[in-house]
Amino acid sequence: MNDAFCGIVIEYREYREHDALLSVLRDDGVIIKISAKGIQKVKSKNAPACQLFTYSRWYLNYRETSTMQSLKSAEILESYRHIREDLIKQSIAAYFCEMILYSHFETPFAFDLLKHALDILKSQDDPMVILCLFQVIVNRMHGIEMQCDGCVRCGTTKGIYAISLKDGGFICKMCAKGYDKVYSSKDLKCFRLLNKAQLEHYDILKEIGGFRFEHFEQLYAFFEEYAGIPIKSIQFLRILKDMS
Ligand SMILES: [Zn+2]
Repeated sequence: MNDAFCGIVIEYREYREHDALLSVLRDDGVIIKISAKGIQKVKSKNAPACQLFTYSRWYLNYRETSTMQSLKSAEILESYRHIREDLIKQSIAAYFCEMILYSHFETPFAFDLLKHALDILKSQDDPMVILCLFQVIVNRMHGIEMQCDGCVRCGTTKGIYAISLKDGGFICKMCAKGYDKVYSSKDLKCFRLLNKAQLEHYDILKEIGGFRFEHFEQLYAFFEEYAGIPIKSIQFLRILKDMS
């Protein structure tokens, strides 16, 4: 365990005057808590590798009995500089990190999901497809899946018209109530596609297009309703979305 490992910073908390406490998602999906002394000093050589959503190689002073390890040094493998240069992308990356942190998946797939999502976010102009795809996959990992095969109240596959959060899926026009959220057939198609999609389908979804923040909000509403985990950074995403 004295060996180096690779991982992404998914939480950065300032601590005392010059220190920080980090949560690092190791490439096997385990979250390692690290105390990083002195990294808020101007001359800290480890500081760049410890920034939120940086992918780094870590060297620790490992103590088996401790739940908090202390940092020896860290070196950057991928800084995601292009994400940091864009306020919306930066906020989405922070959102991804918080979602992974509080979901407590601790599986190798959680690491693959975050790394892959950041790689896509870095290279694409429109971040909405990956934002929606990330959310639908996280929902699925929590066992939350929107029912998109037919109306959840009567079973018909015709005249699908709205989505019910409480009933967990599509609603036809005959069954729709005032509190169900009405969507266009194009929007409903987006949800149906997302519902079956994995990360490797990103390019297909991008080609089809039409994914919007509103779709993400609907997927997030399912997460909020059924997972019940508060995610603070969504507030900042909403503010940015309103400004853009
Ligand atoms: Zn119905």
